[in-house]
Amino acid sequence: MSRKSKIIITLGPATESAEMIGKLIDAGTNVFRLNMSHAKHEWAAEMSKRVRSESDKRDAHVAVLFDLTGPSIRTGDLEKPYNLLEGDTVEFRKVGTAATVPLSTTVNYDGLMGDVTVGNTLVVENGAMLMRIDLVETDRILCLVKTPGTMGSRRHINLPGVRLNLPALTEKDHLDLSLAVECGADYIAGSFVRDSAHVHELRAAMEALEGEAQIVAKVEDQEAIRNIDSIINAADVIMIARGDLGTEVEFEELPILQRRIVKRCHELGTRVIVATQLLESMITNPTPTRAEVTDVMNAAYEEADCLMLSGETSVGRYPERCVEALVRISSRIERSGGHGFGQNVLLRDERQKTARAAVTLADSLPDARIVVLTRRGVLANHVAMLRPRTAGFYAFTPTERVCRQLSLTRGVRAFKLAFASNIEETIKRVTELLRREDLVRAGTPIVIVSDILSDHFAANSILLHHA
Ligand code: PEP
Repeated sequence: MSRKSKIIITLGPATESAEMIGKLIDAGTNVFRLNMSHAKHEWAAEMSKRVRSESDKRDAHVAVLFDLTGPSIRTGDLEKPYNLLEGDTVEFRKVGTAATVPLSTTVNYDGLMGDVTVGNTLVVENGAMLMRIDLVETDRILCLVKTPGTMGSRRHINLPGVRLNLPALTEKDHLDLSLAVECGADYIAGSFVRDSAHVHELRAAMEALEGEAQIVAKVEDQEAIRNIDSIINAADVIMIARGDLGTEVEFEELPILQRRIVKRCHELGTRVIVATQLLESMITNPTPTRAEVTDVMNAAYEEADCLMLSGETSVGRYPERCVEALVRISSRIERSGGHGFGQNVLLRDERQKTARAAVTLADSLPDARIVVLTRRGVLANHVAMLRPRTAGFYAFTPTERVCRQLSLTRGVRAFKLAFASNIEETIKRVTELLRREDLVRAGTPIVIVSDILSDHFAANSILLHHA
């Protein structure tokens, strides 16, 4: 695999068949996402099984990510949608109270009236309608419509810049989390994570259920941006959820924030996903727009670990072509180099410094490969974060789950391999496997980095071996 950027696709009606899942794996998908805002439990369980069975058939390490809905604020049920005109007054009221104006809806968050103040902006349906809050009472707020639109039932509400006192996990999230653990999810994503405590709460809830997934924190509002360092340190992976984040900030700020977050994730050693609208027009069109090609290229140039598709593959007409487009665009820019944020990684311990030395050595040798012997994947992630330039970067680990959890780490290809009790035998097995797979030739330099030399001897070490 010459492509380094990894690919997440969101499953949906357009991609749910076993045949299509198989085709998407063949096209280059590394992770399948189940969006629990839409997925029913029975369907999500069936999809997890299909992904496992199609990847087993191909001997591929493909991961499943459960994306929890999180505490989103939504309008209530309306008999019919309201056509809102500029200058109209709309009421958002607590459930169980009576309407005081003709255009009125309940909201699912009782704390709303305590969190907002007059003058705040309220955004409905991801930016489709903007309103200004003109009156706040204990059980209702009144808003002035600034941009017209149609407001239906259960529409999503954002409040840019407002500090919301929503819980980290809702009752529905807890039920979805249990399902994710039952299905053996590799990654679980928390939505609207606003500080590190939310990440810890999700991890603790998952561990209480004896889940072994890694935690993805979705950064999608200004509060998360304010707490970005502590969130990056607490999570295994950050997702730049540009859909919601894009409604929370002025649009010209979004690419700046994306770049800052990718850079900071590099510095602090946490993997990062760039998500949403990478190929939006391909929901209906067979080829991407020029602007989309440039957007994908930019994310790959920033050397994000992973690129994520949502509607393009869940409901779109061309899911396979979307994956092929990501493969083509990212492979092309990777040949031209990247931003080089890997140079800024803060090396916090000896293991990370060993990883740096191994990458420096491998990058200085013509046509070298890097091999990481890793039990939990941590060392492989350290090496990946330094963005080695070598064409071949392989992780060997005895555990299938670790192979899958490296499926969104940039640049690495994972192999399951039982370690021998002595390092010579392990190296022999690694070399044989790489030669069998045609990934090295006789004499290819292989830089092996490991923190386990044998069952009885652990030490951070680098070995230079020739195949
Ligand atoms: C996003 O907002 O960009 C995102 C990925 O979240 P969701 O699709 O769950 O709203």
